[in-house]
Amino acid sequence: MHSQVIITGGGIGGIGAALMLGRRGVQVTLLEREPELTEGGFGLQLGPNITRMLKQEGVFDSIAGGMVFPKRLAFRNATTGEFLNFLDCDDMERRYGSRYAVMHRNDLLQALAQGARATGNVTILNSEKVVDFTDHGDHVSVATDTGKTFTGEVLLAADGIHSRVRRQWVGDAVVPTGYVAYRGTLPGDRVSADFDFDDLTLWMGPGLHFIQYGLRDGQELNQVAVFRSPGYLRGDEDWGGPDELAERFAGTFPPVEEGMRGLSMVRGWPMADLEPLDSYTRGRIALLGDAAHATLQYLAQGAGQSLLDGASLARHLSVLGDAPWSPDAVAEAWAGYEADRVELASRVQRTSRFWGEMWHVDTTGAIIVRDQLFRITDQYDYKIVDWLYGPVVDESAPMPLLAATAER
Ligand SMILES: Cc1cc2nc3c(=O)[nH]c(=O)nc-3n(C[C@H](O)[C@H](O)[C@H](O)COP(=O)(O)OP(=O)(O)OC[C@H]3O[C@@H](n4cnc5c(N)ncnc54)[C@H](O)[C@@H]3O)c2cc1C
Repeated sequence: MHSQVIITGGGIGGIGAALMLGRRGVQVTLLEREPELTEGGFGLQLGPNITRMLKQEGVFDSIAGGMVFPKRLAFRNATTGEFLNFLDCDDMERRYGSRYAVMHRNDLLQALAQGARATGNVTILNSEKVVDFTDHGDHVSVATDTGKTFTGEVLLAADGIHSRVRRQWVGDAVVPTGYVAYRGTLPGDRVSADFDFDDLTLWMGPGLHFIQYGLRDGQELNQVAVFRSPGYLRGDEDWGGPDELAERFAGTFPPVEEGMRGLSMVRGWPMADLEPLDSYTRGRIALLGDAAHATLQYLAQGAGQSLLDGASLARHLSVLGDAPWSPDAVAEAWAGYEADRVELASRVQRTSRFWGEMWHVDTTGAIIVRDQLFRITDQYDYKIVDWLYGPVVDESAPMPLLAATAER
């Protein structure tokens, strides 16, 4: 089977790329090793840079039905409960021309997949694990564990943080942090009455943080608890278990400690990222999503950045016209893709590491300084996020009438 583009990996990055390529008339075959396309039952944040791109690509409306739009991103101390500061999402929308959104991961994946199939240009094949790939110079071939071979003009590797393609090229290993995340959703009717569904709240504590936000019209509360594992630091083989979670969050502010009840204890996710790369392409093969730039989740941008990859690849590959695509034409498309993506995605990776360090400080002095920085920062000064959420479409934001909200 020959198509213009073969994609390995049916996560948000791969499916998003298939959708955006398919909409621009590119023929895509996507190979996913799992028998179904599915994402864990948790939420995902999409910054205004991502929702704006989805609008520009014409796919926002078909996805937005499942989105919730918080009014504030609130920052609180997880030990004292103090409300330290917030970002005003109405104002952000004015400044960046689009809204901060949250959404159930699986709702997003299914909406992207439905859109991809509807283009008529995308074939999604499940239970096809890629076991080998070859760049023949004038085309690529991909072998799967079912014994099939697929050929294409180019291969996009969207096979995640443990990417087989990246391992073969770069040979680097994931960078562990010793932190572990537990996630879960609570039905809305089990959420305490004083929880404000308008807020997306980040609670910061020593060596830990906790995030809460509403999903699906407030029918569910999404929660993520992250902590530095003492077992990891000791070198234990079996580190980061639910007992450590309970221990680390004991004595936190009551809504935080109580929040642990809503988490899935079945498994924790060890937090890791990859080192930034200078290039995502080689010959007829390109990396995208976590395979290219797996990032810690502290800017809540990993999946969003993978969608930006897909949009960029769709723009640059769709102008190549009918196959065959010459090596020079492919090289030109890759140059455009890398110019769009490498510097920005690498900055997201580096900045995410730094944000995590800042949230998790654990000495008294550092906590006092961090909290004071949050308190005194003007929440309408966007210097620290313009590079990420920009370009700025309305310079008149921030809003002049701040007093009422600033008192919160
Ligand atoms: C706790 C946590 C919170 C996060 N919060 C956010 C957030 O709020 N906002 C945000 O934007 N991002 C967030 N992220 C990051 C986000 O989840 C990832 O960046 C994103 O899911 C990566 O998508 P991907 O498609 O590149 O990779 P993946 O989702 O890993 O998909 C890779 C796919 O490839 C398939 N695959 C692998 N190998 C093969 C093979 N050999 N053959 C065929 N298929 C294969 C896998 O089965 C999988 O389906 C968070 C991450 C964590 C851990």
